[in-house]
Amino acid sequence: MNRSYDDIKNAADYGRLSIEDKEKKNFSMESESISSQRDLIHQYFEVHNISHNTTGYYDDGITGQTFERENFQRMVKDIENGLIDCVITKDLSRLGRDHTETGFYIERFFPEHGVRYISINDNWDSKYNSIDEILWKLAYNDVYCADISKKIRSKLNTNKAMGKWMASFAPYGYIKDPTDKHNLLPDPKTAPIVKECFELAYSGLGTCAIAKKFTEAGYVTPGENCGRYSKVRSKIFNETGHIWTTGHIRRILSNEIYIGTMAQCKVKKASYKSNKLVKNERENWIVVENVVEPLVDKEVFDEIQKKLEMTSNKYARLPGEGCLLSKLLICKDCGHRISVSWKSSKYHERGKAGVCNYYKKYSKYKVCSPHYIDYDELEEQVLDYVKQIVKTRLKILDTPKLIRENYKNIQNLIQDQEKINEGYRKDLEKAENVILKIYEDKLNEIISESIFKTLSQKKETEVSELKSKIANVESKICELKSQLDNNQQNINKEKAIIKKFLNSTIITQDTLSLIIDKIYVGENDQIDVSFSINQLNDIKI
Ligand SMILES: [Zn+2]
Repeated sequence: MNRSYDDIKNAADYGRLSIEDKEKKNFSMESESISSQRDLIHQYFEVHNISHNTTGYYDDGITGQTFERENFQRMVKDIENGLIDCVITKDLSRLGRDHTETGFYIERFFPEHGVRYISINDNWDSKYNSIDEILWKLAYNDVYCADISKKIRSKLNTNKAMGKWMASFAPYGYIKDPTDKHNLLPDPKTAPIVKECFELAYSGLGTCAIAKKFTEAGYVTPGENCGRYSKVRSKIFNETGHIWTTGHIRRILSNEIYIGTMAQCKVKKASYKSNKLVKNERENWIVVENVVEPLVDKEVFDEIQKKLEMTSNKYARLPGEGCLLSKLLICKDCGHRISVSWKSSKYHERGKAGVCNYYKKYSKYKVCSPHYIDYDELEEQVLDYVKQIVKTRLKILDTPKLIRENYKNIQNLIQDQEKINEGYRKDLEKAENVILKIYEDKLNEIISESIFKTLSQKKETEVSELKSKIANVESKICELKSQLDNNQQNINKEKAIIKKFLNSTIITQDTLSLIIDKIYVGENDQIDVSFSINQLNDIKI
């Protein structure tokens, strides 16, 4: 396409050289230098006969992550004063490396001030190219400055912001476009089921009734639908995966994807170190509208959301107050929650009982078994047991001798590992000397080429094995040393948690969850407590 530059009245050339660039003493220095940037842009001016101001704006030795650059700011002033109607840089990264701010100038500031922006090496011209085309480039420049984990996330999020589906499975009702796996198309098999689900809900049928209807109709469940493509299927799933639950129906009815809106990043990792997923605040979701073919009208969807909100409280409400363990109880056999409710809705003085929630809802499909427990009795027993365990642990933590012993134990372990390492190093030196010797023998024609090959190959394998062993031992030593460092800190933290638990007059779910991870309820009153503090799991009383 022939590009026209006739309408440019006064173009400005901008460039910068960062400290990092300056420190690179290789060839890139030459190509990044201010003078080479200026030369390139001025050549561009000439070739395309672009009128431009003579001074130019260049910042020397300033990082691309900040826009507080003297000459950049001078240029911004001149743009605001209407002196410049075009900005040209060698490439995008010369404008800036910070994604959001660079984006701000390209998407908002320049267009709002009638400024055309040209990035020569990216072959991008705001008059002819779309912003989307440069979003990728922007993301790339951004991650240049960031760490690896941020790198991946920011790229993913750019994709998500562009309405690309980045999850491994398509949502129920859709399939991934065979020509573009980030694009979703209605699934001829399951889309009608989604539509029926919304129709039934709109007509007033409850989630329970819809689930029952779908199970009886033998419709493929969301779990089965994923399973069709996945080899990882749990045993429990194989037995019960064909049953529709109210959860399935609820999740379908509340998923905005069915009105064409892609909402991604609903959960996030608790931290970069952890794989635990936590709910993300809605304002941090990446929501893009009208990117998928909708399966339901927005009015119908909104109407159903109101209904869902009204009924959801009914499920979430606990019977009475202070049901301390309710969030921790898990069925040992099927992994679903144990739900707690009054034994008699009329006579609350009879107390509460727990039953496997899965059994309770779907027993007619012969799943799981009751796992009936007397809740009040259980709560007393569990709290008693936990108190004993933490008291024992506190005694250990308060015994200097035991702590010293623990300290010594770790130090002994470190010494052991260092001895092993020393042995490996000696072996390594020996093996390397042998290789040299073999090589010399070959040069002096004491051994033949084929014998040399066999012998040296054997020794090379030994060397590489020893090297990996050494690396292993060294990482173990590192781990132990950091354990030694963290020891006292961890002890103090643990003590604080335990003391808080033992000293509180009213125990809350929050306090308890710092100590107990889960309580597994087996059939026949068998109870297993799994502790959040790992060391508590080893204590026997
Ligand atoms: Zn169960």
